[in-house]
Amino acid sequence: MVIIKSINMKHFIPAIVVILFLTSCKQKQETQQIITTPKTPKNIILLIGDGTGLSQVSASQYFNPNPSNFDRFPVVGLIKTSATDKLITDSAAGATAFASGVKSYNGAIGMDKDTISVPTIVEEIAGRGIKSGVIATSSINHATPASFYAHAKSRGMYDEIAAFLPTSNIDFFAGGGLKFFNQREDGRNLLTELEQNGFQVDTTALPKNASTLKHAILLAETAMPTILEGRGDFLPNATQLAIDALSTNENGFFLMIEGSQIDWGGHANNADYLISELIDFDKTIGVALDFAKTNGETLVLVTADHETGGFTLGPDGDDYNKIKPSFSTKSHSATMIPVFAYGPNAEDFGGIYENNEIYHKMKSAISKEESTVVSQN
Ligand code: MG
Ligand code: ZN
Repeated sequence: MVIIKSINMKHFIPAIVVILFLTSCKQKQETQQIITTPKTPKNIILLIGDGTGLSQVSASQYFNPNPSNFDRFPVVGLIKTSATDKLITDSAAGATAFASGVKSYNGAIGMDKDTISVPTIVEEIAGRGIKSGVIATSSINHATPASFYAHAKSRGMYDEIAAFLPTSNIDFFAGGGLKFFNQREDGRNLLTELEQNGFQVDTTALPKNASTLKHAILLAETAMPTILEGRGDFLPNATQLAIDALSTNENGFFLMIEGSQIDWGGHANNADYLISELIDFDKTIGVALDFAKTNGETLVLVTADHETGGFTLGPDGDDYNKIKPSFSTKSHSATMIPVFAYGPNAEDFGGIYENNEIYHKMKSAISKEESTVVSQN
């Protein structure tokens, strides 16, 4: 006899085959075998390397003094990234596809192609007690992070986008963009509003330890400095702090971390800028993977909104032993983008699919009902 029972998974059940030998209280002995499907993740960490295509990832093999953390992923897929109005996407439409599951027009923040607001994964999971965080090396109201907590017709509406944060479902944020909080056209002081809404606000340095309050961390007027200008370990350290702060939540967390300036190195056709930002992003991936490895119930995803610069790793002249990075455009390109996955449900992210499927796969992973097959002999 086979009984298929569905259990709504609130917490993690190990993906093992459990064999229970049940002794019937009556006359007959029965052997009962319970097979659980692979465990579901309690936490999701999504790392977005803005403008990071396969050549950028490959640069982490050739120019990184350390072993690349990209090598640690067991599953790789590819996404198609076009927007609704353009073959080549921008970061706003790209992030809106990840955050809300809809393809939209270039410039859209949390809105569909008809400028109707669409719920973000952060808003949807907050109702289940799951906490969220966003981290970027751009200003925190720039297109990529904004698409996870705000709704605006245009990515350039920076003051409007920042004003979502005091009352959004974000529990932790770190990046630049201070001036959009305390030097605003409308005269509002969002730092005060953040404190009134339960945030600890830091504007000079990352706090040493996670607080029991929510965290608002704004360490630059606009974008954070570049690595070449001495940003140091802001991104990996902010990631560790966010994990420390959010992982105490018993219902789990969602954390989006953006290596924002890989894209800017591509736009500038500046290989040193691009590669230094990329290596910082690679190091940050290591922080997420180290946590996921010991935690066991965290899905880690790394992908990008699009490629930037038409970056190429060609030879230096005729010297096939020397790579000379070059670029084919100052803009974004249409190449497919790799997706790297580690942890429970990682296997869902293999194959070739559209960028907005990332949202649906994440939602499915974190909402999946654990089905348990009980077979009795
Ligand atoms: Mg971005
Ligand atoms: Zn760009």
